[in-house]
Amino acid sequence: MSRHFDFISIGGGSGGMAAARRAAKHGAKTAVIEASRLGGTCVNVGCVPKKVMWNAAHLGWGLHHATDYGFRVEDFRLDWSDLHARREAYVRRLNDIYARNLEREQVTHIQGHARFVDAHTVEVNGERYSADHICIATGGRPKWPDIPGAECAIDSDGFFALDRQPKKVAVIGAGYIAVELVGVLHHLGSDATLVLRYDKPLRGFDEMLRDGFMEATQADAITIVTGFSTNRLQREDDGTVTLFADDGRSLGGYDVVIWAVGRVPNTDDLGLERAGVKVDERGYIPVDKYQQTNVPGVYAIGDVTGVFPLTPVAIAAGRRLCDRLFGGMPDRHLPYENIPTVVFTHPPLGTVGLTEEEARAKYGDAVKVYTSRFISMDYAMGPDKRRSLMKLVCVGPEEKVIGVHVFGPHADEMLQGFAVAVRMGATKRDFDDTVAIHPTSAEELVTMV
Ligand code: FAD
Ligand code: NDP
Repeated sequence: MSRHFDFISIGGGSGGMAAARRAAKHGAKTAVIEASRLGGTCVNVGCVPKKVMWNAAHLGWGLHHATDYGFRVEDFRLDWSDLHARREAYVRRLNDIYARNLEREQVTHIQGHARFVDAHTVEVNGERYSADHICIATGGRPKWPDIPGAECAIDSDGFFALDRQPKKVAVIGAGYIAVELVGVLHHLGSDATLVLRYDKPLRGFDEMLRDGFMEATQADAITIVTGFSTNRLQREDDGTVTLFADDGRSLGGYDVVIWAVGRVPNTDDLGLERAGVKVDERGYIPVDKYQQTNVPGVYAIGDVTGVFPLTPVAIAAGRRLCDRLFGGMPDRHLPYENIPTVVFTHPPLGTVGLTEEEARAKYGDAVKVYTSRFISMDYAMGPDKRRSLMKLVCVGPEEKVIGVHVFGPHADEMLQGFAVAVRMGATKRDFDDTVAIHPTSAEELVTMV
């Protein structure tokens, strides 16, 4: 095997795989170095197994509400370990497909942990490999707080390893992972509690969405404990875990506790100092708009840069980098704006563009907001009359739409098309002039007054 390449990706996750495959498509001699399973966080312990669990939870919700439509559904129960085994089998199939894709596209797959020797050379299992261009796509891992008894809990990786359903579970954290996992666990039948250190989760999302989430959890009877700053965990004699807070409160009886308090970048064991690559105070790798680090020929993409840690962002950044390096597109890069994102709560919430708060801070009185609050037909037949929420944030006399925020059934599938419209600079008038699709929830976005 030749040891010199045009391009090496360190990390075979969303970003590294996408970059390497695009480089190879442009004819570059390429390698991917992966320490663990191909597909990275997204495929193995992120988006993919999460979405399977979310789908299962959604089916569970449907079974509970099927009687609203006249179905007689008796005596159903979840076999968690069967679901776990089926989900893992699916993930393994994806791992294999990823490996075959590399083989078919003549990308060399090197298995092992890479460390820089210098800016153009890495070492894996004692072998050295060099490249003109090296892309760091090493992603991140769950963050663990440094408090007594922290090890009594698991993290999101541990959640996906559970082969038995937790009976009573606490999820500590306030971001995407915390709200997604607590919803999944609740709808699959666990007694699930979300433990927040402040009053609401999802900081940075539009306030309407944050409030909508809080309302929905009340409707679903998910327990939320607020203002609880966990400072210690303790394993009791009966095996359960108790949480203690700064203010003297405690919460107990959990067979599983999950940390979902953010992630840290995988930059601490990469030998970056030997390549001269700088990291910031949190360990992320700063890059310019072309994903270029401070060292020529060394790039970074995806979660390791700390910017919009989402799979499609890592993929887009990687592909554009290789279009620029090998595809004759010298200015190709990813503009980090109007990036749509969905949180897989029950129902899901989605957002693209500026929140109302951000828009008012930027444009002041030039901002005009349209909102809608309605009962989706998904809830028409049952007693649950929760509201779907929608907001358009517009600016200027032409009412350019600079933010779309949705909380309600199908928000996940709805947002992609509206993200195209926002990216193209659509105005409120364009939305109004678009004929609605009826009866849907999405039609509310083109019929707002
Ligand atoms: P990763 O996918 O993490 O890949 C990095 C790879 O590098 C890993 O395979 C790792 O083993 C490897 N590696 C690390 N160090 C080395 C080394 N020194 N040598 C060799 N290999 C190395 N995003 C979404 O868009 N939608 C979702 O629904 C979603 N759900 C998520 C749910 C969870 C629970 C989590 C944790 C994340 C979720 N994400 C989601 C985020 C998404 O998974 C990440 O943004 C994405 O995986 C980042 O891709 P990446 O290539 O930067 O890193
Ligand atoms: P996030 O950064 O989204 O959220 C973590 C939050 O936890 C913090 O913002 C903080 O909120 C809270 N927190 C931090 N420390 C503590 C503590 N000691 N005790 C209690 N709460 C604490 O991290 P996640 O791990 O949830 O997700 C990481 C990233 O992965 C996301 O940002 C997202 O980009 C991606 N992801 C995407 C998904 C999707 O696309 N659907 C799904 C899952 C992950 P506060 O300060 O308000 O308390």
